[in-house]
Amino acid sequence: MGSLSRSIRRKQRLAEKKAAKKTLKKITAAVDKMPDYCSQCATTMDKTNMGDNMDWHIEIDKDANIKLTCPKCRGEK
Ligand SMILES: [Zn+2]
Repeated sequence: MGSLSRSIRRKQRLAEKKAAKKTLKKITAAVDKMPDYCSQCATTMDKTNMGDNMDWHIEIDKDANIKLTCPKCRGEK
């Protein structure tokens, strides 16, 4: 767990340093309207227990729309 997001981050740093900065700005804005539930089963993310949330998959498209997938739905894939 976590190695995927680490490698994505490394890739960003190497290839898209400037773009990543721009994207970060978009993401920051998007987080405000970020859903807090799984896009597949609608399970709500427990924001009071961020340790568990590390297992959630967060997907961000080019328009900075955030899609969450809970650990359960991730495991069933
Ligand atoms: Zn789910």
